[in-house]
Amino acid sequence: MKKRVLAIMSHPDDIEILCAGTLALLHQKGWEVHMATMTSGDCGTKTLSKKEISAIRLQEAKNAAAILNASYECLGFEDIFITYDKPSIIKIVGHIRKVNPQLVITMSPSCYMLDHELTSMLVQTGCFGGGLVNVETPGIAPIDHIPAMYYADAIEGKDRFGKRIECNTFVDISSVIDIKSEMLASHESQGEWLRQHHGMDEYILSMKRHAEDRGRDVGVTYAEGFRQHLGHAFPQDNILQAELTDLTYIR
Ligand SMILES: [Zn+2]
Repeated sequence: MKKRVLAIMSHPDDIEILCAGTLALLHQKGWEVHMATMTSGDCGTKTLSKKEISAIRLQEAKNAAAILNASYECLGFEDIFITYDKPSIIKIVGHIRKVNPQLVITMSPSCYMLDHELTSMLVQTGCFGGGLVNVETPGIAPIDHIPAMYYADAIEGKDRFGKRIECNTFVDISSVIDIKSEMLASHESQGEWLRQHHGMDEYILSMKRHAEDRGRDVGVTYAEGFRQHLGHAFPQDNILQAELTDLTYIR
């Protein structure tokens, strides 16, 4: 049976910006890739209604996932209203149980907006709660393990105070930067206004600049940075390093 990685992030394009290179490498290693966003990105527009922009962005997210032959699901939250409460936790626990992954990647616990930070907290609890039989998710059985969990880099690599995030696991994504770019380019509605303002594809360029910046941390062309959740009861082995071996750098 194939190993499964599940990336859960807040909005369509967060996965592509923060960890699509690593997902592409795992896909090449034979892993099954599952992608989920909390919201449909319903506030990512200046002109369209929630319904109109959601339909566009859900299709863009599916197109990006298709590049890795990955599943994609939107978990039904709304932009800027992600909340840490019981119904939200049950939703996340249910999704983690359904996919039953060995590896989960989510957002940085400190980032520029609460949607990101609360997603990070919800996924942490979702991983821990997946095996607790008294956390009920009707129709979906508990899983028998806590998946290994990694926090991706924060957007622009900085926390809510502007301080640089110190990642401790870096993945050399130089060989898959074109795949990551293609996945991000699937989010045409988000790239478009940057193109209009800057007259160039700033969306892709800023992603590449950050990947170069993380690459410099470990002496490669492009990298993605992560921090593993190593709290009590969570797996302690560095599964990214075990799988991606010489493409992984530990700091
Ligand atoms: Zn986001």
